Amino acid sequence: MSITPELDPFKLAQTLSGKHLIAGKFVAAAGGETFDVDNPATGAVIGTAAFGTKPDVDAAVAAAKAAQKDWAKLAARQRGKLVAECGRVLASHVEELGRLVALETGKALRTESRIEAGVLADMFTFFGGLGSELKGETIPFNPDMLTVTVREPVGVVACIIPWNVPLLLMAMKAAAALVAGNAVVVKSAEEAPLTVLRVAEIMNTVLPHGLFNMLSGFGPECGAPLVEHPDVKKVSFTGSVETGRIVYRAAAEKLIPVTLELGGKSPMIVCADADMDQAVAGALAGMRFTRQGQSCTASSRLFVHEAIHDEFVARVKAKVDAMVMGDPLDEKTDIGTIVSDGQLERVRSYIKLGEETKGATKHTCSAMPTDPKLAKGRFVQPVIFTGLKNSDRICQEEIFGPVCAVIKWSDYEEVIAQANDSEYGLAASIWTRDIKTAMDATRRLEAGFVQVNQNLVVQPGLSYGGVKTSGLGREASLESMLEHFTHKKTIIFNMK
Ligand code: ADP
Ligand code: MG
Repeated sequence: MSITPELDPFKLAQTLSGKHLIAGKFVAAAGGETFDVDNPATGAVIGTAAFGTKPDVDAAVAAAKAAQKDWAKLAARQRGKLVAECGRVLASHVEELGRLVALETGKALRTESRIEAGVLADMFTFFGGLGSELKGETIPFNPDMLTVTVREPVGVVACIIPWNVPLLLMAMKAAAALVAGNAVVVKSAEEAPLTVLRVAEIMNTVLPHGLFNMLSGFGPECGAPLVEHPDVKKVSFTGSVETGRIVYRAAAEKLIPVTLELGGKSPMIVCADADMDQAVAGALAGMRFTRQGQSCTASSRLFVHEAIHDEFVARVKAKVDAMVMGDPLDEKTDIGTIVSDGQLERVRSYIKLGEETKGATKHTCSAMPTDPKLAKGRFVQPVIFTGLKNSDRICQEEIFGPVCAVIKWSDYEEVIAQANDSEYGLAASIWTRDIKTAMDATRRLEAGFVQVNQNLVVQPGLSYGGVKTSGLGREASLESMLEHFTHKKTIIFNMK
């Protein structure tokens, strides 16, 4: 049974309204309640989502637990084949998924949403190929004993995802968990429940029912009972530090493992000898201006050497000025909207904080859209603040919006110390033509993902995750699948 792509996202949002997907079936919330999903570009309601509570969690976990038994018995390569098949089918829905995620999150279709839908399919294809890599070891423990290890699935995995890149983050977790022999219950973010639900529907045309379940709802009512459920044996969470701590505490009660991918305030250090064009392009990509800065990896602390500072900032500003803010679904749009009123308020409060920061200069970029249909949209003009000190609050706190904090530097030792003077440690980058400086910086920067002369996003195959309060564990790679979605069992045969 295949599904025909629905390219009208408004129609699709209606069709998907008010439902979870449990045991292969669309079902309403047990409590009968729903919540509204809106279009951040206009504020208009585009559909609803099921308001998940504990009975929904119980049903989804029970379905997952039942389906996992037979799934774990399949040959690992066979599981991989089915997950790769999900990737193939999802690839034929890229346009549809891109449009729907643009509609519900406000991320521009051309610069962000369509690309994210492509990476979603790619993640499934990548992990699907790893089935036969679920290997154990033989250990020369004793000549009279054959000692081996095997990898076993943990059981039911809960994946709790945020709204900023819901497709990619869900895929990183779910594809790895499934190939490793687990069943999955995903809880979508309240701001972006519809596109991932469509992904679940599509995946259920390929996978045995019950293996992949999708719940929508809010943290306390739906996320918390999922983490606390006795049959959930692992939680993979991406979100805020605050909520990460709550999830970690709840998991500690049950003594189950967690993977946490939390915030960041990632430094980008531009040296005087950097290739200017490359570094300017890198600052734009790193700051995720096309995603309104809504990225945990955003290089939102930009350290620029004093010798090039003014020219560098002017060139970054000119590039952002040339970007078009507008309807996320319009192909001409580079920059869409902030996802929710709550986030909008938060971003505005940080812009105000920047204005009030001693020594700071505010550079407002691009231009608000003029289309009256977008008058109620959650648009924010990107802002670059210069004249900051690393100790300023605006350089220490994660904003999750289009606000770039620029710090001028002159001494290399000082800039490395300042880059590391942060509670976060997700990503970092250094921009220089000098190989010794580059190598020294990559060794000393405290982060899980460090790049030289580029600012790539998460890539299938490369371990991704943070140190310090940016999180625990790694995702997106073979190693992450082995370490975080399986248990190692040691088996000793006495051959005497
Ligand atoms: P944001 O600040 O963007 O809302 P959160 O960390 O609060 O980020 O949300 C990330 C995800 O965690 C969302 O799916 C949200 O519903 C979920 N969540 C929030 N609170 C809890 C909780 N107490 N337990 C489990 N999940 C939660
Ligand atoms: Mg929240």
